[in-house]
Amino acid sequence: MFDLTGRVAIVTGGNGGIGLGMARGLASAGARVVVAARNAEKSRAALAELGSDAFALAADVCDERSVEAMLGEAVRRCGRLDILVNNAGTNVRKPAHELSLAEWREVLDTNLTGAFLCSRGAYPHLKRAGGGKIINIGSMLSIFGASFAPAYGASKGGMVQLTKSLATTWAQDNIQVNAVLPGWIDTDLTRKAREQVAGLNERVLARTPAGRWGRIDDMAGVAVFLASAASDFVTGAAIPVDGGYSTLV
Ligand code: NDP
Repeated sequence: MFDLTGRVAIVTGGNGGIGLGMARGLASAGARVVVAARNAEKSRAALAELGSDAFALAADVCDERSVEAMLGEAVRRCGRLDILVNNAGTNVRKPAHELSLAEWREVLDTNLTGAFLCSRGAYPHLKRAGGGKIINIGSMLSIFGASFAPAYGASKGGMVQLTKSLATTWAQDNIQVNAVLPGWIDTDLTRKAREQVAGLNERVLARTPAGRWGRIDDMAGVAVFLASAASDFVTGAAIPVDGGYSTLV
């Protein structure tokens, strides 16, 4: 039910953090993983953990041509595509009145438009494979607001609605589209947040019932579930993986 042998998975931003945690899970279940990200050195290092058939492609998810080239090359080399994880993401932590239009666009383009471009580009390949899986990475800020993350929150709220829309549109093609809403996971992104937002570490620990930050390997299981036949009747869902963070008022 969870076996991904013979499946091909693209993970955007799969060279670090949550993307790498998910890529590890997919590889351990048998999938061939394609890491799509910008930093070639980071991608090379990540490949060492993802099995001998994994490879990396340079891609900027904000750039339509780069996305199309990456998808074309992945399918040319692997012969098929079964799974897309839209994980690439960024944040600019400022209140709305201090955020420039360029910063707003950078966050929206990376987190939301990037997922649209990758999903749209992947669709014909998934359809040709007889069906497939798209996993979109949302956030606790898909649900909650934060004064320091107006663009990020808008992008992650949008990600849940994009997920529902794609799930509805492509259900007849046997493509399931779901979102994962990670709680606070220890990665480069949140290490920066801990430096920039006073008291964040303490607030996260106090509010998370599990009493700890998430680890990137906490994201592996949900990735395998949503990429495998085990989730064939699950679509349009947004699943928190948050140590209970979203259950508390
Ligand atoms: P990281 O900064 O560790 O990873 C982000 C990844 O995205 C990097 O590997 C980066 O690779 C890639 N990336 C960024 N911009 C682009 C781009 N334009 N094109 C292609 N790849 C890009 O952060 P996380 O692992 O924490 O974040 C991963 C996802 O999880 C994001 O969507 C984030 O919003 C989300 N998330 C994280 C949470 C957390 O607590 N850590 C909580 C909730 C959601 P490169 O620089 O090589 O391109």
